[in-house]
Amino acid sequence: MFWADNKLMKGQQLMSAFTHLQCGYCQLELEADRLWNLCPECKKPLLARYDFEEAGKTLTREALAERPGNLWRYHEVLPIRKEKYRLTLQEGWTPLIHAERLGKEVRFDNLYIKEEGLNPTTSFKARGLSVAVSRAHELGVKAISIPSAGNAAGAMSAYTALAGIRSYVFMPKDVPQAFIGECRALGAEVQLVDGLITDCGRIAAEGVARYKRFDVSTLKEPYRLEGKKTMGYEVAEQLDWRLPDVIIYPTGGGTGLIGMWKAFDEMEQLGWIGKERPRMVSVQAENCAPMVRAFHDGNEFAAKWENASTKADGLRVPAAVGDFLILRALRESGGTAIAVSDKAMIDYANLMGRCQGIFPSPEGGATLAAFMELRKAKWIKGGERVVLFNTGSGHKYAHLWG
Ligand SMILES: *Cc1c(COP(=O)(O)O)cnc(C)c1O
Repeated sequence: MFWADNKLMKGQQLMSAFTHLQCGYCQLELEADRLWNLCPECKKPLLARYDFEEAGKTLTREALAERPGNLWRYHEVLPIRKEKYRLTLQEGWTPLIHAERLGKEVRFDNLYIKEEGLNPTTSFKARGLSVAVSRAHELGVKAISIPSAGNAAGAMSAYTALAGIRSYVFMPKDVPQAFIGECRALGAEVQLVDGLITDCGRIAAEGVARYKRFDVSTLKEPYRLEGKKTMGYEVAEQLDWRLPDVIIYPTGGGTGLIGMWKAFDEMEQLGWIGKERPRMVSVQAENCAPMVRAFHDGNEFAAKWENASTKADGLRVPAAVGDFLILRALRESGGTAIAVSDKAMIDYANLMGRCQGIFPSPEGGATLAAFMELRKAKWIKGGERVVLFNTGSGHKYAHLWG
């Protein structure tokens, strides 16, 4: 297998420098090796902390050159301790494509696309759920539950299948058939809910309490964030340790954005980068834009968006438990938040497709739509380096193209 010839593997130990958990809001510190969901004090998300001096002994920029092409190349800064619990389908280490034909079309030289559609189950949700389900497996969990707008449920079902863990999925009843069929094929029990992701969360929580299922909702356990932070490590590594000027990210629950922001801080502690950071941009759908509204209103938290609607299933998130972490990252980075229409998402998905041969999800199209707006407003300047995140493939959304 992959790790058999890895020089860094010591017997069954997959070395991790994971030390403890810390609340992202009240800073309370908690023991690493037991199951946690939200902070027991303030009910905010918990963040994994590491000993970077220890991690840096084996995790060096040079050592990475020898490592496998998946997110486990950064295992010292991931929370799994033993190799036998690591569940992998080769997630992560996706290409960062210099989009030259698209760049020519929009008259901009340094445009890059991080192509997350190539992950197992066709979205970047695989990163978070590979790590979260592995860690739950390591801590003895036998049943897992998730409320999901689509891609997260498929990813979870893939890794629970590998572990032999029972999986329970709660999805809005109007999610496209491709998302439902995928979960069923992967062995999950699917319950369709008349409502939005927030309603799914409420119903899933009843089963969690009654049947002792472990809840892996976005940011309600600490490890999906750890999987998604690897996008930050990868962008740095793939750009030869010089971060881009701007990152445009389609934001639902915000795990990827918060995760990358955490990764930049960790890489600074490892001595790999300095204080410079990209300006982080959140893109949302115009009929579900709680972060955009809170950002421009100067709020610390984002009020729930009423009557949320968008065809971009990953962006149909009216309220997020990590709202304050998203807003902090946007502000500290000198970034911004912008809403785009569903029509613009598809139009620009088509432009990306025509120029680069990528079939993006509408969320991916949204990043290009936002880029065009920000370029027009001269918020992005010529000569800057910009990374767009195509967070998933368009295949599960093919119905949108008629
Ligand atoms: C879930 C999802 C998003 C939103 O990701 P968050 O990290 O929760 O903000 C964006 N795009 C796609 C394709 C998704 O599945």
